[in-house]
Amino acid sequence: MRTFLAILICKLGRFVGKLMGKGSSMPGKVALKICPDILSRVQLPPHILAVTGSNGKTSTVEMIAAILRADGKTVVYNEEGSNQIEGVTTLILTHATLSGRVKADVLLIESDERYAARSFKFFHPTEFVITNLYRDQLTRNGHPESVYDAILPALHPDTELILNADDPLSSCFAQGRKAVKWFGLDHCASDLSAPGGAYHDGAYCPICHAPMVYDYVHYNHIGAYRCTQCSHQKPQTDYTATALDLESGTLTLDGETEISLAFCSIYHVYNILAAYAACRECGVSPQVIAQVVSHYILKNGRMQTFTLGSRHGTLLTSKHENSIAYDTNLRYIASRKEDCAVLIIVDAVSRKYFTSETSWLWDIDFDQLAAPQVKEVVLSGQYANDLAERFSFTALPEGKWRVQPDISKAAQELSAGSGELYVVTCFSDRDKLLSHVQKEA
Ligand SMILES: [Zn+2]
Repeated sequence: MRTFLAILICKLGRFVGKLMGKGSSMPGKVALKICPDILSRVQLPPHILAVTGSNGKTSTVEMIAAILRADGKTVVYNEEGSNQIEGVTTLILTHATLSGRVKADVLLIESDERYAARSFKFFHPTEFVITNLYRDQLTRNGHPESVYDAILPALHPDTELILNADDPLSSCFAQGRKAVKWFGLDHCASDLSAPGGAYHDGAYCPICHAPMVYDYVHYNHIGAYRCTQCSHQKPQTDYTATALDLESGTLTLDGETEISLAFCSIYHVYNILAAYAACRECGVSPQVIAQVVSHYILKNGRMQTFTLGSRHGTLLTSKHENSIAYDTNLRYIASRKEDCAVLIIVDAVSRKYFTSETSWLWDIDFDQLAAPQVKEVVLSGQYANDLAERFSFTALPEGKWRVQPDISKAAQELSAGSGELYVVTCFSDRDKLLSHVQKEA
């Protein structure tokens, strides 16, 4: 009876919530109050695929859903990104019959890293993808090692892990487990010989703390690492990006599957690779995957083009408090050939909670903007002066960057210029700019 009541209330709550434009957490929260173990009482699909990690969860989950559906599978997933236990409960119960059966081939769950253990207390994924662990939202999450400790109890012994072989920290989840599949990227032209960036999180082995060395680095601390003391090193991969040309936008998977990239970022490559590995584990053929992900434009719009006055622009949405997301976008700008201007906006540090903590700005490798084709950098938003302080410690000469805290004025001033305009900011601050520009896609 309680199961029935919890499902009914959740469905009604979601229906009313949708009419009122409310988020998807509340109905699940109420259902959990009525029946705290509701998730152990429902009958779930044969495949339960979970995705967590610091970066790339939403994009990876979106692509997995698109691939599985193209393969004819029915998929239920948290499209709106409500990824804590309340949102996961809403997702499951609204797709369940009143007797508690979720009718789908695959239940696909994007899970918040820190809350994964709560979400998977009463059921566990059949496959669990962990994309990576990076410095992210320090005030909320603490250091990546703390996030590692938070995820660990979420991993049921029967769950198969699908891990990033190139990340020295999240690869440690494989310790003591048999059912592990690895995805990774082979050596490619855009690699570095040693880790770059403002800090080096791959300097020491996460297991024995001895120094680590790299045969090659894809970005930051992601690459072919090897501990100088213990056996921790990049493992042999099961699903491999065997060739990557970021200039022409081509990616080859397992030596034979060609993908054309809609967005030439190494970041996007790893999301594709994670989605490829997960879908192959669910029995999808490489051909179907290639058809879906080639030229795939993400709905969540991390990259958008726009027009501002006479100028063409590209919006590169990063996550504030996440230096690697910034670094990969700055690397994209630095790799372009044509002259450009860059607008960086930090107006609110987080859209989820209030913090004015800006230490993460010091973790970002802004030196990449010293590239000669970057003609001008404008710093804007409430934290423009914090950005300016950070920029005074970069390799950029003072005349190359300036401060305009008012976002409207910054947009107006830049609209008169020529050459591509890149805007680097986060989702909530992006919306403050979008009213001034004409969106193209
Ligand atoms: Zn070691």
